Amino acid sequence: MSIFEIANKYIPGGVNSPVRAFKAVDLEPIFIDRADKAYLYDINGKEYIDYVCSWGPMILGHNNEEIRKNVIKACEKGLSYGATTKLEVDMAQFICENIEHIDKIRMVNSGTEAVMSAIRLARGYTGKEKVIKFDGCYHGHSDSMLIQAGSGLMTEGIPDSNGVTKNCAIDTISIPYNDLDTLEEVFNKHKDNIACVILEPVAANMGVVLPKDGYLKGIRELCDKHKSLLIFDEVITGFRLCFGGAAKYFNIKPDLVTYGKIIGAGMPVGAYGGKKEIMDMIAPSGSVYQAGTLSGNPIAMTAGLTQLKILKENENIYDDINNISKYFFDNINDIIKRKNLDCSINYIGSLGSLFFTKDKVTDYVLAKKSDTKKYASYFKNMLDKGVYIAPAQFEAMFISKEHNKNIIDKTLNIIEESL
Ligand SMILES: *Cc1c(COP(=O)(O)O)cnc(C)c1O
Repeated sequence: MSIFEIANKYIPGGVNSPVRAFKAVDLEPIFIDRADKAYLYDINGKEYIDYVCSWGPMILGHNNEEIRKNVIKACEKGLSYGATTKLEVDMAQFICENIEHIDKIRMVNSGTEAVMSAIRLARGYTGKEKVIKFDGCYHGHSDSMLIQAGSGLMTEGIPDSNGVTKNCAIDTISIPYNDLDTLEEVFNKHKDNIACVILEPVAANMGVVLPKDGYLKGIRELCDKHKSLLIFDEVITGFRLCFGGAAKYFNIKPDLVTYGKIIGAGMPVGAYGGKKEIMDMIAPSGSVYQAGTLSGNPIAMTAGLTQLKILKENENIYDDINNISKYFFDNINDIIKRKNLDCSINYIGSLGSLFFTKDKVTDYVLAKKSDTKKYASYFKNMLDKGVYIAPAQFEAMFISKEHNKNIIDKTLNIIEESL
């Protein structure tokens, strides 16, 4: 039996997260043995240049020496205590002192948990019930976030996953991204009952989709006008676009922010933070309950804090990664033009997507016009030639500090051949 056959025998679909299954590209998954710098190695020893980077966390590349050494040292002191450590305080202080719009922060174990908790907090703080999200934005798999609002934009949520109840869906309203008019209509319709608006300030889970000029500012103003909280889900963009994330990049102050991915450097971590008066409503200082057996785990804090400190202390790091990314994505654009392909590129910072559709993608409906069959065949070509990209069209490519010009040029050649 192949490993995947054994996997299928004991794990639903053979995987612990659906997108790893390679179903969208009609293949069987490769099994990874190890990773180093910009490379993954599968169990047969085949090398791949990696543009998934564990879905974002590995901004310094895989197996960073300083992180590895600190984690090994931390492991020698025991894996978990279920009691408070100075490391958690160091992490919280570091983030609060360096991120302008965060006064207090609470660590959790995943992005899903961070979003779920931030939404509960927004409801507790405002005393309001409904949440507005945007079609194509992913906020983890908590019940109330698995909603996408079918056809009727102004109707109540329709659950996107079996097992989410109608009563849960009813309090989530999902509307098109990059559309302020619809947002204003929804605010007017539900007058005083919108607890919060949550979004990915740069959408990166329908492929990368950038906010239009003035869009984020418009959302901020509508939230202020209706006394609703604005939550930036920065699980991907946080410490990625720049150290201060999308909030800093676009100069918009959200009330609450959720983090994950990069702040754990590859360990399972999430966090949510924001204004003091809101965060103080969380137990034990306030009446909104949220807890976690392994939250603030010493190994996870060591990995995450080491990564954040490297990012903070190396001032050129973002310029370097963003410059090489610009070179990369601009060159893919040139290939598309030269070959006159029905493709388009969206990118910002070290985050981008190649869509198999000609039109500029600005929302979920346009993203879904992509030819996923062509993507599948492109993916297979890339994989054969030793480049690992996401096994689905609607994901981002991530560039790390270890993706140097040689690696990027090699990849560009393979992309040109594969396209
Ligand atoms: C990955 C992701 C999440 C969920 O994080 P998990 O750690 O997988 O639970 C939430 N929001 C965004 C924007 C994400 O990209």
